Amino acid sequence: MRPEDLETNMLRQQILSGDLKTVVLDIDPDNIDVARMKFCADVISRGGLVCFPTETVYGLGADAFNEAAVENIFAAKGRPSDNPLIVHICDTDMTEQVASLNDAQRAAVQKLGEAFWPGPLTVIVNKSPAIPAAVTCGLDTVGVRMPDHPVARELIRLSRPIAAPSANLSGRPSPSRARHVQEDLCGRVDVIISGGDARVGVESTVLDVTGEVPVILRPGAVTREEIAEVLGACDEADWKKPADVDGKPRSPGMKYRHYSPKAEVVIYDGSDPAERRAAMARDGNEYAARGLNVGILTTDEGLEAFGDGFAVLTLGSSRNLPELTHSLFARLREFDERKTDVVLAEAIPEEGMGDAFMNRLYRAAGGTVVDIR
Ligand code: AMP
Ligand code: MG
Repeated sequence: MRPEDLETNMLRQQILSGDLKTVVLDIDPDNIDVARMKFCADVISRGGLVCFPTETVYGLGADAFNEAAVENIFAAKGRPSDNPLIVHICDTDMTEQVASLNDAQRAAVQKLGEAFWPGPLTVIVNKSPAIPAAVTCGLDTVGVRMPDHPVARELIRLSRPIAAPSANLSGRPSPSRARHVQEDLCGRVDVIISGGDARVGVESTVLDVTGEVPVILRPGAVTREEIAEVLGACDEADWKKPADVDGKPRSPGMKYRHYSPKAEVVIYDGSDPAERRAAMARDGNEYAARGLNVGILTTDEGLEAFGDGFAVLTLGSSRNLPELTHSLFARLREFDERKTDVVLAEAIPEEGMGDAFMNRLYRAAGGTVVDIR
């Protein structure tokens, strides 16, 4: 036996014998270990669950065509059974394996793929009958994405299309680091690949192209302006009102309180930063006087506004939107580690990527916003 296969063979035996519930494997995205990758692909092909890094957040993957494996994803996460999964592919042609595209959808996927794939954009199209109902929760559409991460792409290349939601326990902040996945899913999945921090830090933009006009169902790093440039038009669902006129959620995931730390989160909005921060400090002092552990989530520019009585965490410079977005989920988890009871978080303008940032913060806060006007 070749020495590089020794390790993975041992791991395989330990998993099969039940001695080891979850294997954590380091895989360097810049120098991919082929034997380890093959081991992971083998786990997927046998119906197992593998957590893997992507550029958005870590994913919890299973063979998209294996219904029982897909059902295990829902069990491992405690995910509601009406919240569909995204299918991950590694080249645009693979879309045809998972979707039944009409001409308009094929043209849209072609253009979007050229502009944004691999990358943080999920496209909703008509589903292929080959995709089990468990993936789409009975919907006749499916979300398809080509991730931009060497480990994710190699795993898909060695397997088949992979169904994967974010690799967190349902309701918890999404995992932008391998450590977050381990915190939530050790003992619940077969393998966790540790492959560095996720570059973007929030989930993909979800774009529905099954209607007349393309509609963003969930904002992400690919913005409405960028999509409109490619497709000529792009609407966005109002994510503060997740249901359409019939009360039916447009994007099933949008109706849940999401991304939440254990603490209560309250958003402070308003155009004047000094007033906003003064209100946060005032309310923070009141919470602290009642014996609560108070966290403040702000930017570098806001740090001076808060005294020592609080756990103050910064997301980075307010001028650097990608940096703010990148650290959001990690900071929400840090508040949990500090046993924070209430987090007072500063809003940022909902422009460009700020839309994705505020969408996630709004969900974490369960919609609780204090407006300082
Ligand atoms: P996650 O993988 O945790 O980022 O969640 C995937 C999200 O994609 C779901 O919560 C839905 O909001 C969205 N999604 C996936 N498939 C569909 C679909 N067929 N129609 C509408 N939204 C979808
Ligand atoms: Mg998720």
